[in-house]
Amino acid sequence: MEADFLVIGGGLAGLTFALQAAPHGSVVVLAKQPLPESNTAYAQGGIASVWSPEDSFREHTEDTLVAGAGLCHRDVVETVVREGPERLRELIALGIHFSLRPGTEDEYDLGREGGHSHRRILHAADATGAEIMRALVERVRNTPAITVLENHVAIDLLVDAKFDPTIGSPSCWGVYALDRTVSRVERVRARATLLATGGAGKVYLYTSNPDIATGDGIAMAYRAGVPIANMEFIQFHPTCLYHPAAKSFLISEALRGEGARLRRPDGVEFMRRYHPQAELAPRDVVARAIDNEMKVHGFEHVYLDISHKGADFVRERFPTIHARCLEYGIDITRDPIPVVPAAHYCCGGVMTDEHGATTVRRLYAAGEVTMTGLHGANRLASNSLLEAAVFGHRAACHAVALLQADQARPPTYPGWNPGAAVDSDESVVVTQNWDEIRRMMWNYVGIVRSNRRLARALKRISLLQDEIRQYYWDFKVTADLIELRNIASVAELIVISAITRKESRGLHYTIDYPEHDDARWVRDTILTRAEQFAPDQEFLSSLYRRRAEAAA
Ligand SMILES: Cc1cc2nc3c(=O)[nH]c(=O)nc-3n(C[C@H](O)[C@H](O)[C@H](O)COP(=O)(O)OP(=O)(O)OC[C@H]3O[C@@H](n4cnc5c(N)ncnc54)[C@H](O)[C@@H]3O)c2cc1C
Repeated sequence: MEADFLVIGGGLAGLTFALQAAPHGSVVVLAKQPLPESNTAYAQGGIASVWSPEDSFREHTEDTLVAGAGLCHRDVVETVVREGPERLRELIALGIHFSLRPGTEDEYDLGREGGHSHRRILHAADATGAEIMRALVERVRNTPAITVLENHVAIDLLVDAKFDPTIGSPSCWGVYALDRTVSRVERVRARATLLATGGAGKVYLYTSNPDIATGDGIAMAYRAGVPIANMEFIQFHPTCLYHPAAKSFLISEALRGEGARLRRPDGVEFMRRYHPQAELAPRDVVARAIDNEMKVHGFEHVYLDISHKGADFVRERFPTIHARCLEYGIDITRDPIPVVPAAHYCCGGVMTDEHGATTVRRLYAAGEVTMTGLHGANRLASNSLLEAAVFGHRAACHAVALLQADQARPPTYPGWNPGAAVDSDESVVVTQNWDEIRRMMWNYVGIVRSNRRLARALKRISLLQDEIRQYYWDFKVTADLIELRNIASVAELIVISAITRKESRGLHYTIDYPEHDDARWVRDTILTRAEQFAPDQEFLSSLYRRRAEAAA
């Protein structure tokens, strides 16, 4: 199959790009599960943007910079904040219904979340992502230039330098993908490719992310020689529902925004001891506080309580959370909710410039798969949907201009060669390695880290990588095997990045270096698979020159 634009991922970033590119050429969207399954579909709280006249771009920028703990790229923050309202107006024009203030017909009900100095979160009750995906998917399915290939798992990028080592500056011409319905690997060739595969929460045992979040785009880009940055900054959401039957159900930050209090099982409130903003402290502070209370006192969970607010308000403001908790016998209008922290958001990822372009020509990235410079060492709540919309749009504009400037067509690449691979009769190896990696990451590379645990994790992940590599080449690819290979690779990137940063900052906290070290560490942690192709040094230095100029 061949198209002008290939989009790998059907969440907010991918579908924004697809709709923007569609008037200019053919678009293929690959998604490894049927749409709308994605992180986007589960977003509850909403999307941050300056909307009220009392708010300002300056304050949204400052809030983002404060959360990012010195590592945000100011120029990127300013761009995203400034372009936010326009992207939101486009989403509204697509038919997305954000909640209105009670009693009004055209005033949006702006929510407030931790770290925001104003109410600026547009939301669709507590199911914002589902509403966004409903409208986007409907529009995409009604756009003839867009072909959606569901149940297609991208395996590896088609990068010309891999096939012809004499090519100095690599270009991407599409991807090999597994059609899981017929177990066949296909080539999808394209003149411009977007990675929009979302996050990597499944690298950890406990996560708020759905099953698709296995870091595939990060691993693919790394294998293609693209620099990956800031992988040590994993955001742990403080409050996932703790119930044996509930799989990764998030209790939104917006509850704390509306006054919910955290309590230990013995009834003691504890947040004020950790931060002056108490429950509205940044997420990393809240997650570490809960982790500490649980570890010091041996509790299996803590409680989040919103029962002091009126029952009608709670039911109306949080209908999904109310209904879901009721399924487990918890009436949140009366009962406190048992919660634990869980891996939630990956601040690091594929390095891009301000257009979503990567060091490989014709390869773009947008959304949670990236490190654009917006989040720095910690993401401000509800800035990620905003980033996906802004960079999905920006990458599409750049890719359209690129394709208009040249008419080059993708080379003909060889079909997938399974070599001597046979059908696996030992899928237990895959499940065993999945479990081992996720448990090891949770125990050794979690909310609080140490040199000793990280060294142990590196040793284990190297051994597992060897075993998985061997298995990968000996047996025919399956979706599980592709994902296992990717989570192992992403786990290794997280561990190496965490070992590299010898200080604590934002989401990276280690007991061996508990303080900031501004003299040495106000910089990104960049990893490149240098032995494959050297990264495009010109791209990297011009990116940093532009950012340094903007910062000055
Ligand atoms: C429970 C939850 C609540 C959240 N709440 C908020 C919130 O309130 N506000 C906010 O700003 N952010 C929130 N986030 C984060 C936010 O939802 C994500 O960062 C954002 O949706 C990412 O969008 P995306 O388009 O980059 O990726 P996604 O929406 O995750 O889409 C990824 C797509 O890539 C596809 N894919 C992945 N790998 C492959 C592959 N190998 N081949 C083919 N396709 C592939 C998937 O099938 C999917 O279609 C929340 C996240 C979760 C999990």
